[in-house]
Amino acid sequence: PPSQDPPRIHRLDESVVNRIAAGEVIQRPVSAVKELVENSIDAGSTSINVSVKDGGLKFIQVSDDGHGIRYEDLPILCERHTTSKLSAFEDLQSIKSMGFRGEALASMTYVAHVTVTTITSGQLHGYRVSYRDGVMEHEPRACAAVKGTQIVIENLFYNMIARKNSLKNSADDYPKIIDLLSRFAIHHKNVSFSCKKHGASTADVHSVAMSSRLDAIRSVYGVSVARNLIKVEASDADSSSFIFEMNGFVSDSNYSAKKTTMVLFINERLVECTALKRAIEIVYSATLPKASKPFIYISITLPPEHVDVNVHPTKREVSLLNQEVIIERIQSTIELKLRNFNEASTYPEHA
Ligand code: ADP
Ligand code: MG
Repeated sequence: PPSQDPPRIHRLDESVVNRIAAGEVIQRPVSAVKELVENSIDAGSTSINVSVKDGGLKFIQVSDDGHGIRYEDLPILCERHTTSKLSAFEDLQSIKSMGFRGEALASMTYVAHVTVTTITSGQLHGYRVSYRDGVMEHEPRACAAVKGTQIVIENLFYNMIARKNSLKNSADDYPKIIDLLSRFAIHHKNVSFSCKKHGASTADVHSVAMSSRLDAIRSVYGVSVARNLIKVEASDADSSSFIFEMNGFVSDSNYSAKKTTMVLFINERLVECTALKRAIEIVYSATLPKASKPFIYISITLPPEHVDVNVHPTKREVSLLNQEVIIERIQSTIELKLRNFNEASTYPEHA
């Protein structure tokens, strides 16, 4: 082949870098909703309300009653890598908040128009300010506000034509957003959540702060799910500390569905774990073949140093120390429960 001059290497414009990074953090409308709701949870909110237009492409609004944002912090709020949650890298090991990278709000300003209204306690009025490409578009304006923060994201992906077109061509994200809020609502049972289409009078997810998990599941997923659940629990500790704790609810033989619903929280983070899901499905097809697509809600607590939360751009996955052992432990706990349930229902006089 003819020899070719190597192409010149140049530095990308910062705005290009930021937009590319933003497209990874905010993959679709539901990712924006997840980041906003997690921020509201991190802010100690007890009530979080979501409203969405056009599957989130036109408009997403998340309102909370959390601690709000200081006036002095508004100028850097939407810059990349600005956060109130992390200082040293080592802190990641013990981080309790869902956020830590200071990427979410910044990312949104690179691919959408962001408006923040917020008030902190003791203030007579709040502030409203809009952002683009990481910076404030104007000085914050004083405005009336109720406790907490309201963030509006408009025209998502207005400057990413390919992304916008591919999202427009497929079913919109509203069902995914409903699904997300449903999952948060059953885990954070002390927070009330609502989610509706913008302008609609009734909410599609509506949970009130509940005292019991089962009540929360009933209010979100309905009685048909809640009445067919078995409580599962397991815990392992060595002499000095716990190494694994798990609790949740799984469906019994009277529950049937077309596909598995698995709601998994690990150290308070909503995550996915395909290996665990498969493992549980295997237990069901072996013990309850007629109910082999279960409903599963599981919350796992591990020592923070056993969980690496920084392995995925959307934090959808985490990596666990001793994953196989943990999966086997959960499998055997569920299997035992299901067998006991079977026996109890075969010989009800012993139940
Ligand atoms: P991170 O959550 O990783 O810190 P974000 O970009 O999501 O990064 O948010 C940046 C900062 O803005 C947060 O650290 C927090 O201090 C503040 N913030 C964002 N949303 C809210 C909210 N709803 N209520 C109070 N503070 C918020
Ligand atoms: Mg965040």
